[in-house]
Amino acid sequence: MVVPCPFCNALHFPGESLGKSCCHKGKVVLPPLAHYPPELEELMVGASPEAKNFQQDIQSYNESMAFASMGAQVEAPGSGPYCFCIHGQIYHLTGALHPLEGQPCQFAQLYILDPAAANAERLAAGENTGCLPSIMATLDAAIRRVSPSVTAYQQM
Ligand SMILES: [Zn+2]
Repeated sequence: MVVPCPFCNALHFPGESLGKSCCHKGKVVLPPLAHYPPELEELMVGASPEAKNFQQDIQSYNESMAFASMGAQVEAPGSGPYCFCIHGQIYHLTGALHPLEGQPCQFAQLYILDPAAANAERLAAGENTGCLPSIMATLDAAIRRVSPSVTAYQQM
């Protein structure tokens, strides 16, 4: 994707018709995206060992910080290139504010805990063995600072 749309600068593949699939030839104008927190930008584009770890395990970090999981009826792929097809409505699954007895906290439940306890729970999950505690703490602090959802869950 190296060819910019002359109207919105969205990147397209060579040979793709410009302006039709992105902005209707300049008819749709979106407000500029807000900058993400500076510590996240360093992790996204930096070259430090922490940034490399973040870029390598970004899916684990992303899932660790999620407030809910997504649910949908997913259709089995047919022949040809794999395509993620959803039938019906997309919904988000949230649980109770506290986990069941003996179960670990997950999703939004983690934002009710003290940050250190929440990060310890996240790092104890088997899928996060490659994640660094310092990055988990950075992400948790940034989300607690900028997300109105954290405040809403803590008030509940
Ligand atoms: Zn465009």
